[in-house]
Amino acid sequence: MGGATVTANGGIQVELGKTRYVLDPHSHVRSDYTFVSHAHMDHMHSPAKGEKVIASSATSDLAKARGYDLGTTTEEVEGVELLDSGHILGSRAIRISDEVYYTGDASGRSRAFLGKCRTRQARVLVMETTYGSPEYVFPPTAKLVKDVNSLISSAYDRGVPVVLMGYPLGKAQLLSYFFSSWDPMIYHESVARMNKIHIDHGVPLKPGRSYDPAKDKLPHGPWVMVSPMSSGRSKVMAKLKKEHGAILVAFSGWALGSGYRHTLGADYSFPLSDHCDYEELVGLVKAVSPEMVYTVHGFASEFAQDLRRMGFSARPLSAYQSSLSDF
Ligand SMILES: [Zn+2]
Repeated sequence: MGGATVTANGGIQVELGKTRYVLDPHSHVRSDYTFVSHAHMDHMHSPAKGEKVIASSATSDLAKARGYDLGTTTEEVEGVELLDSGHILGSRAIRISDEVYYTGDASGRSRAFLGKCRTRQARVLVMETTYGSPEYVFPPTAKLVKDVNSLISSAYDRGVPVVLMGYPLGKAQLLSYFFSSWDPMIYHESVARMNKIHIDHGVPLKPGRSYDPAKDKLPHGPWVMVSPMSSGRSKVMAKLKKEHGAILVAFSGWALGSGYRHTLGADYSFPLSDHCDYEELVGLVKAVSPEMVYTVHGFASEFAQDLRRMGFSARPLSAYQSSLSDF
């Protein structure tokens, strides 16, 4: 059996011997196995009838709740190993024989109920490089949580509510977990739906009141709400600010960039990310110790160039990109 070949066209295609694997396709691609790394929208597709889908059970449940039925999924395929990638609940990296290791989206640090990306050596590494630029090095999570708790504390002293904003799947559950000591806790209905699946999978998230901006009224402050990311100039957020004096706090790795908070119209922003930062990406490459690296997402070209300077063979898999806002 010769070595694996890796190409991209609507999905990452790995041919090894007579078997074709397609990784995180955007639509159905003919294959022996399809791998879905996690349930973010940019990694999701609707499988064709009879398609053999490799995914964790949590990914399958989360996908279903977001309108994608992955059918009967499996985690057990001969020659294939799934490893926790630490990105969100159920996210997995895949290792095919000792030939190919694909990270999907991955985090290099443990946060709350999420571990960090586990690695194994492989000849070819296909990796996400969302934050593959040296200015993206995230601060310790414990310090960030402490800073946000003092911010909420001072808002409570003044009777002012606080809205914590992040992607409804992944970030919102971390926020629900980290800031669960505050009462009352209100969850935007899209967050409440994802929280429920986490609770079903054993993640101890605190119950709270679900809020649908189209029909529900909010109590007078203070309170803490976990909400999807939304511009401070959006109708819903503008109303929360005007009627309740709410403070808007955004959480994203992009908060390290200057101007992020202002562009979003948030009052504060913190760099809490579900991805590897630059140093963690470099560490991941060293741990996998590959002969060849293919980079996808974000700073794919820049990071591949940095890897070449460090002595690795690396290039972007440019036919496989998705928009950064496409979650
Ligand atoms: Zn993701």
